[in-house]
Amino acid sequence: MKLWYRRITASLLLFLVIAWSVPSGVFAQGPVKAIVLAWDGAVPAFVHEMLRLGKLPNLAKLIEGGAFADDATPAFPSLTAPGFASLWTGAPPRITGISGNRVPRLPRSQFTILENRDGFNNALLRAEPLWASADHAGRRVVVTHVPFGGDKSEHGVHFQGYRGIVGRDGIVNGRAAKPQPARSWENVPASVIPPLEITFNIAASTLYGLLVDDPSDPQQGYDTLVVASARDGREIKAQQKPRPGGSGGEPYWSQPIQVKANDGREATTYLRLFELKPDGSDFLLFFTRPTREIISRPDLVHGASRTVKAFIGNGASAIYSQGALGPTLPNGGAGAAESRYLETISFAQRQLTETNRWALEHLSWDLFVAYTPFPDEAEHMWRGFLEPSLPGFRADVADRLRPYLQEVYRMSDELLGCLMTYRTERTVVALISDHGMEGTYKLVAINKLLQASGLLATDQRGRVDLARTKAIYATINNGYLLINSTDRKDGIVPPEERSDVVRRLRELLLEFHDGDRQVVTAVYDAQTEGDSKGIGGESGGDLYLDLLPGYEADSRLGAVELIAKREPHGMHGFNPHKPSMRTLMVLNGPGVRSGERLRDVRLIDFAPTLAELLGIPIPKNATGRVLHEVFADPRGQEPRPSPSLQPSTGHGS
Ligand SMILES: [Zn+2]
Repeated sequence: MKLWYRRITASLLLFLVIAWSVPSGVFAQGPVKAIVLAWDGAVPAFVHEMLRLGKLPNLAKLIEGGAFADDATPAFPSLTAPGFASLWTGAPPRITGISGNRVPRLPRSQFTILENRDGFNNALLRAEPLWASADHAGRRVVVTHVPFGGDKSEHGVHFQGYRGIVGRDGIVNGRAAKPQPARSWENVPASVIPPLEITFNIAASTLYGLLVDDPSDPQQGYDTLVVASARDGREIKAQQKPRPGGSGGEPYWSQPIQVKANDGREATTYLRLFELKPDGSDFLLFFTRPTREIISRPDLVHGASRTVKAFIGNGASAIYSQGALGPTLPNGGAGAAESRYLETISFAQRQLTETNRWALEHLSWDLFVAYTPFPDEAEHMWRGFLEPSLPGFRADVADRLRPYLQEVYRMSDELLGCLMTYRTERTVVALISDHGMEGTYKLVAINKLLQASGLLATDQRGRVDLARTKAIYATINNGYLLINSTDRKDGIVPPEERSDVVRRLRELLLEFHDGDRQVVTAVYDAQTEGDSKGIGGESGGDLYLDLLPGYEADSRLGAVELIAKREPHGMHGFNPHKPSMRTLMVLNGPGVRSGERLRDVRLIDFAPTLAELLGIPIPKNATGRVLHEVFADPRGQEPRPSPSLQPSTGHGS
């Protein structure tokens, strides 16, 4: 009894001491939580257009009551992997080591300028991400399908769908799998007319389909496709009716079905039948990328639905752009291909939404981080047709494509709305993005230029001859050149020769013209401008290029023309200071000033600022600044004193 009493007194005393030392208000209300959603590739001008039309109601709410930047500066290069590495760590690519979606392989002494690795690899990230500092501060973290989510947090739950992708999405049609009279099927499903069979493969699995005329379906002729894992009606995995594509088509997708990946392990895919001719002569069946479930704590998701455990992650952009969903609008189509593509996007968004909804409801979290690859994926498809400044712009095509792109943004806004329903008054909600988008229509074969000048040499089979090569535009297309320096395997440029090679490259690139237009508008040397621009470093480039709007680099070695036209599309990766590369950052919630328009914001400022709002240490390698202008100050002091603020060691812009 007495001991009890003493313990309670001691705890009470400790409580009073802690309460005294913590700023008033915080202790009474509990710590601030945060929900962060990243939209990949959000274009501010398009967002503003949609906000004016009232088509992004959730983002509008967030902006209205929060702090908002629409010209946030991305990483250099403004690619997705460097962008997210910088967003989460508060450090530029020079420090994170993530200089592209693929990065030169290290150590330099063991690998040539031609060797590279996947830049989305957590093991290559050299800076601490925000969720790791939250984790160390004892906060619970949930990260769903976010680039670089995963290894660096001990107690968090990480969904890592993008790492589980083990194959490509695809279509099956009457040409690839010609319907034949069905033979040797057992337990054949009922059909008014004799069924037809098809056989097709998804990854390493063979699947068997039957076209049947369902007696309970008034439709004349073949109206149903059943898909089974064997020629047996007892092994049916999906039953599909043909329906035209469009958003709202989610009910027509199959449940996730199991297939074997090429390594023999299990993966899931979804099926969707867009078309089936009543005479059985043709059909169009789409399947999503086979994906393996990758969750850091599988025990926690046992009770979750199959939708949560399966993963899609992207729409059918490659298949759409090949014309395999039908002719695209710019190529004379009437919109069926766009409707189908849009439905694949809406289905992927729905799967992400359901995963997030489940995780928000069933897991404990103080910091919840989510990601969607949209609008980026659709922006790549359509931005090139929406920019009136590009030669060959067709207003009729733009007018027909714009509503589809708006629909993609609207879906991302719906995901935001779903996450916002789980906030309390102690929750900060942030909407961030990694880069903008530019319409391009011309390719510049930088390596062909280098070859012509003798700085790059190839052998008779077109392979790079490292013994005669001084520099190359990295074929991983990160917007930079690599100098074949002697610190690299098979390098030939000694340190004392570097400045001469740089001078020759500068002259060559800056003098190059397309007609009377200078194509390469600036060259930045990582050796002299690395610290100020956040570029270079061990796994970065040597010379970073700035290109004229509308132009992108062709990183291939065997390009025929120095300048070639291409079908317009959307591209990013350019100098982050280009207006087209700027993007969004919105913060809303406790401690955030409402209606604040932010200026001079960089991606690297996000993690330090959110850490400050959460009251956790700033990620330890961060060089971005805490955006003090974001903070509402209850005591009327500006800026708010902040014990955890660390001195900045440099800026990336
Ligand atoms: Zn992209």
